[in-house]
Amino acid sequence: MDNCIFCKIAAKQIPSTIVYEDEDVLAFKDINPAAPVHLLLIPKQHLSTLSDCTANQAALLGKMLALVPRLAEEFGCAVSYDADGTPTGGYKTIINSGPDGGQEVYHLHLHLVGGPHPWRRLH
Ligand code: 5GP
Ligand code: ZN
Repeated sequence: MDNCIFCKIAAKQIPSTIVYEDEDVLAFKDINPAAPVHLLLIPKQHLSTLSDCTANQAALLGKMLALVPRLAEEFGCAVSYDADGTPTGGYKTIINSGPDGGQEVYHLHLHLVGGPHPWRRLH
């Protein structure tokens, strides 16, 4: 898509700190992080919002979601358990959709936000 900033990042026309890439998906650091870990996971294919997805994108969406725990582990914010079984660590996965959902960039993306608090408020 012309004029889509995340398509340009996927095409390497705009620099970003890429942390994962395969033929379908790209993950890179958010330019304005709200927390110690703030990654964006995008499909390389331009889809504007989650509302543009159908069952045809089920595998792609599943791939993006399945990447989350792997990147959380790599960036040190995976959920782990104390000796007594109490969970520690963790992260949020967020997809903002449309103006009421707080979406600013209209190329589907999943936020992975984690690490020690405080975090900036996420809308
Ligand atoms: P949204 O509100 O659409 O869910 O979030 C868009 C996110 O994209 C924001 O967290 C913002 O900081 C990030 N962002 C916007 N432009 C760029 C950019 O050019 N590069 C990177 N790495 N992140 C961007
Ligand atoms: Zn795009």
